[in-house]
Amino acid sequence: MAQIIEGREVAKKIKRELKPRIAALKDAGTTPGLATVLVGDDPASETYVNSKARTCEKLGMYSQVIRREAGIRQDELEDIVRSLNENPDIHGILVQSPLPSHMDELAVTLTIIPEKDVDGFHPYNVGMMLIGRGDLLPCTPYGIIKLLEYYGIDPSGKEVVVVGRSNIVGKPVAALLMQKAKMANATVTVAHSRSHNLPEITRRADILIAAIGKPEFISGDMVKDGVVIIDVGVNRVDDPGSEKGYRLVGDVQFDQCSQRASYITPVPGGIGPMTIAMLMSNTVTAAERLSRRG
Ligand code: NDP
Repeated sequence: MAQIIEGREVAKKIKRELKPRIAALKDAGTTPGLATVLVGDDPASETYVNSKARTCEKLGMYSQVIRREAGIRQDELEDIVRSLNENPDIHGILVQSPLPSHMDELAVTLTIIPEKDVDGFHPYNVGMMLIGRGDLLPCTPYGIIKLLEYYGIDPSGKEVVVVGRSNIVGKPVAALLMQKAKMANATVTVAHSRSHNLPEITRRADILIAAIGKPEFISGDMVKDGVVIIDVGVNRVDDPGSEKGYRLVGDVQFDQCSQRASYITPVPGGIGPMTIAMLMSNTVTAAERLSRRG
C-alpha cells in the first residue's frame, strides 16, 4: 500500500518558509502584490482565483482580483495587463486560464513583462527554464519537484514517464526533470494521445506523472510495483449523493494504483495546494527582484 504524498502539508511548510521573506520585504517598504485577472464566469476558474487571493491575504501579501465579462476585447485585456506591468504595487500578474475562445492567450502572455510573469508561461521564462537558468518556474511543475524533494525521492537516473504534453504541465515538468541539476537528471519519456502502446510505456515508469485531464484514466495494470505516482489531474465527476453534486477525481484510479505504488498523491490535496504555494513563492521572488531594482 502506497504512502500518501501530503501536498497540503508540504504546501503549508513552503508558505511558512515564505513568511520571513515577506516580513523582510515589508520592513524594507515593499508588500509583495499579486494581481489576478479573471475573464468570464467559469466556476472552476472562480474557485482557483478566490483561493489564490485568500492565500495571498493569509500570508500578508497584497492581492488584487480584476474581473471582466467574457465579451471583453483582446486590446482591453492587454491594456489591463499593461497597466499592471506599470503598477509598482504589483509584482506578479496572472491571467486565469482558460480565456474565452475568441481571445489569443499567447498574445496576452506576451504582454506581461517577464519579471512579473509568476505563472512562468512567458516564452522568456520558458526559455530560461529550458537552459536551466529559470527563477520563475511554472507553478505546477515546480510544485512537483518540491514534493519529490520533500519526500526524498530523487529522480536522478530514474525512468520518469509524463503522460500529457501541455505547455503548462507536461512539457515543463519534462524539461525540469531532464536538466543536469539537483532533483533532476531523470530519463524522461513524454507520452500523449498519439502514443502507441501507452500501458507499455507507463509500466516502465519509476515515477509516473499523469497530466491528462481524463478522470481515472491510469488504471492499476498500467503501472509497475513500487512506482511513485504524481496525479496532476483535477476532474469533476457527477456525484448526486454529494452536497455539490460532483466530486473531484484525478487522472489516476487511486484505489487500484495505490495498491501497487510506493508513493501516490491524492486528489484533492496533492498537487493543487502545491501549485498555489509555488505561485506565492514566485510572487515573493518577483517582489524581491523588482524591489532590489528600485
Ligand atoms: P491539456 O488538456 O492541455 O493536456 C492534456 C494532455 O493529455 C495532452 O497532451 C493530451 O495529448 C494528453 N492526452 C489526452 N488524452 C490522452 C490519452 N488518451 N492518452 C494519452 N495522452 C492523452 O491539460 P493540462 O496539462 O492543462 O491539464 C491536465 C490535467 O491537470 C487537467 O485535469 C487539469 O485540470 C489538471 N491541472 C491541475 C493543476 C493543479 O494545480 N492541480 C494545474 C494544471 C492542470 P495531445 O497533446 O496529443 O492532445
